[in-house]
Formats: sequence, structure tokens, C-alpha cells
Amino acid sequence: MSREIPYKIYLEEKEMPKQWYNVRADMKNKPAPLLNPATLKPMGYEDLRPVFCDDLIRQELDDTTPYIDIPQEILDFYKMYRPSPLVRAYCLEKKLDTPAKIYYKFEGNNTSGSHKLNSAIAQAYYAKKQGLKGVTTETGAGQWGTALSMACAYLELDCQVYMVKCSYEQKPFRREVMRTYGAKVTPSPSETTAVGRKILAEHPGTSGSLGCAISEAVEAATQQEGYRYVLGSVLNQVLLHQTVIGLETKAALDKYGIVPDMIIGCAGGGSNLGGLISPFMGEKLKGERDYRIIAVEPASCPSFTRGRFAYDFCDTGMVCPLAKMYTLGSGFIPSANHAGGLRYHGMSPVLSQLYHDGLMEAVSVEQTAVFEAAEQFARVEGILPAPESSHAIKVAIDEALKCKETGEEKTIVFGLTGTGYFDMYAYEKFNNGQMTDTIPTDEDLAKGFAGLPNVPEN
Ligand SMILES: *Cc1c(COP(=O)(O)O)cnc(C)c1O
Repeated sequence: MSREIPYKIYLEEKEMPKQWYNVRADMKNKPAPLLNPATLKPMGYEDLRPVFCDDLIRQELDDTTPYIDIPQEILDFYKMYRPSPLVRAYCLEKKLDTPAKIYYKFEGNNTSGSHKLNSAIAQAYYAKKQGLKGVTTETGAGQWGTALSMACAYLELDCQVYMVKCSYEQKPFRREVMRTYGAKVTPSPSETTAVGRKILAEHPGTSGSLGCAISEAVEAATQQEGYRYVLGSVLNQVLLHQTVIGLETKAALDKYGIVPDMIIGCAGGGSNLGGLISPFMGEKLKGERDYRIIAVEPASCPSFTRGRFAYDFCDTGMVCPLAKMYTLGSGFIPSANHAGGLRYHGMSPVLSQLYHDGLMEAVSVEQTAVFEAAEQFARVEGILPAPESSHAIKVAIDEALKCKETGEEKTIVFGLTGTGYFDMYAYEKFNNGQMTDTIPTDEDLAKGFAGLPNVPEN
């Protein structure tokens, strides 16, 4: 049977985006500036230089330039694994018996297994261009550390990764992938930094957290000559690099004259979702078109749906700048039985502002329902999805089933951010029927909010 729209819409090399799109340029209400945690003054270029790479700070602070050229070296690297396919989920549609048309942009087609490589290569490139020796970072589940290791290996940069201790122990394969790419991986909290030693003294036996690993990585960067810190999500620059996802998606849809009704993505720190929706949000901001845009987050770490829009620390050690974002408080740690990633306490300031301004929606979902959706998707579409990505699958399926009830032929696009081969302990729990859902109580959340900094704007 011939079909008008192919299973996979690929772009030709010459159709790939050559610029990133900076959605901030078209936002009426810009995201709030980063604040110095000591003086509470907005942080400018010079203030950020000890921590971040120069060109990346320029991108971080640039709220006005709509399009930023992607350097040729990065374009060349992108060509190794991009364009990523936009897949029409014909098999899932059939299985659900829905009139909805479902598309997903699949970012798992590279060794790091996720979209994170899109920003890793950009950040490593600017570090190299500045003549630095290396970069430091944190990783939770390990996708970001893996992506950065790959990018640094390619550019011959030193890469030091602070990996949340429980992941370091429970995900030895991710750790070894990073080491294969030449990264030095340290379980966090560690004795190698002052902040790590302090956290260990206060909480002996702690299994670590993302916020704590960030503090260690920042300290390691500032204490070594020729090193800077890089971050895999949340920041404006990361969202900017990830717009390659949305630009490719839009170009592929435009090729066939497809206009989505809704765009759905999972949200941890917000980078894949921000990247996917940026070009569509740009049209919405300029009043050219309207789309429903839905962020999906875990019910166990509900920054958008139950968080506060406030200035907060980005890390546990409180060494990073303050960012205004939807947050659960930097001391918030999701329940130990939460398996599906997306466990950061805050959210991208760009997405936070857009959400605050009513330009996008957010929903939270429980992890057993997420794994049910993952299983359903895997069985018909062939791809074993990452638990993070499966949050988007869950809501895409829910929306497609609503269409079945109403008979509406809506077009749904969702981001499938990666594969789940390193998450088999979580799948095992699900398969054994041992997965449970823990939703924080209001009292649990109140503890996190109590740790918000004392800033006049809060
Ligand atoms: C890191 C990650 C996410 C969440 O990060 P965002 O910055 O919110 O995009 C989602 N999916 C996968 C596969 C990831 O590795």
C-alpha cells in the first residue's frame, strides 16, 4: 500500500538548519536574569567568566538575536548523526485505533542515546575554541556525561564528570561508556572537592544528588587552570543548541504541508522540550499560528505543576547563580523509588517564563503509567524508549485516545528523546510488578520551598 506520508521523513543534508533559533528574541517577557547569590545583582559577562566559556556566556545573555549561526565544525559533527528522523507512528495509531495522526522526532540514534549530544558538541567546541584544557560537569542517570565524553573525545578535550553516587554504582555500564570515551568519572559527593567533603560530613553515607554533583563540578572547574564548567540542561544556551530538534521537525513537517495541533515533550530541565517547541513557539509569539504545547513531568518531581515561580539555587552547595524558574527548592529530592529520570528540582527559565505567561501547558504523570506507555510503544514501534521520553509517549497516547472518543483527526507531534537500554533495572522492576508511585505530599513540598533564598523578588 502506498502512503502519501512516509513512515520516516528525513531531511537532505542541504535542508538541515544552519542556524539555531533564539526564542528569547521574540518573547515579550524575557526570562529573568541570573543573580549573584551573594550580592543578588544580575550577573553579567565578566561575572560569569570564571565558570563558563566566553562564547557560551554571550549566548546565555543574548535575549535579542533571533538566529545564531552554527559553526561549520558543529554542522559537520551534526551530519554524523543528524538529521534525526521524524517518524509517523502509523503502527501506534493502528494499535490505538485513533483518527489522530501521531509523529515523533527520534533523538536516540547516536551512541549517547539521547538529544544531549546536540548541546554537548556545541559546548565542547566553544571550550576548545577558547583554548581551554578541559571541562567539568555533573551527570545523574549518565546521558549527559556520555554525550559530553563523546564530544570531548572528538575534540581532544579533557572531560571530568561528577556522577551522582547511586547512579555510579547502579549504572556501571554508563560509567564505562564514559571512560571508554576518555572521561574521568568521580562518584559524587566525593572527597576531591571542599563542597563534597562538607556534604559528606553533614550527610555521611548519602547516595548523592544532581544538585550536589553540580556544586562539585563547578568547584573543580574554578580550581583548575584552563577548565570551565558545562551543563546539560536548564540554561538558555542549552535550549538554544537544542533548537536544532525543533527546526528539523518544522522543516520536515513543512515539506509535507503538515501543521501540528499539539506538541508534547518530557521536561526535566527543559532542554529537549524547549528545543523542540522553539520554532513553533516563535510563530505563536508573533501571532502567526497557534499550537497547544504540553510539558510532561513526573508526579514525583512536579516542578511546573506544583512548584513555585521564584529565584532559587541551581545546586545544593549554593555556589551557582540564582535562576528564576519553577522550582521545588534546591533541597528537594524525589522519592528513592522514582526510576524515570527528570529529577531536577528546577526548570529552564525560558520555559518557566513561557509557562507563567500562559503560552504552554504542563501535566504530571505517575511512573507506572509511564512504563505502561513505554511498553505499549516498544511493542508496536520497535524502539525501546528511555523512561524520560516515555512521559511524552504517555500523554501523546492519552491525547490520541481522546481523539478516538471525539472522532477528531488531530495531528500530534512528540519528542522521543532517547533509548532506554541503560534503564533495564527500572524496566525489570516494572516487569516484576514491583514499581510503585510516590507522590510528594504538600508537607514534603513545603520543606523544599522553605529553602528558597531570601530575594526581594520572591
Ligand atoms: C536528559 C534527558 C531528558 C531530560 O532533559 P531535558 O533537559 O528536560 O530535555 C529527557 N530524555 C532523555 C533521554 C534524557 O537523556
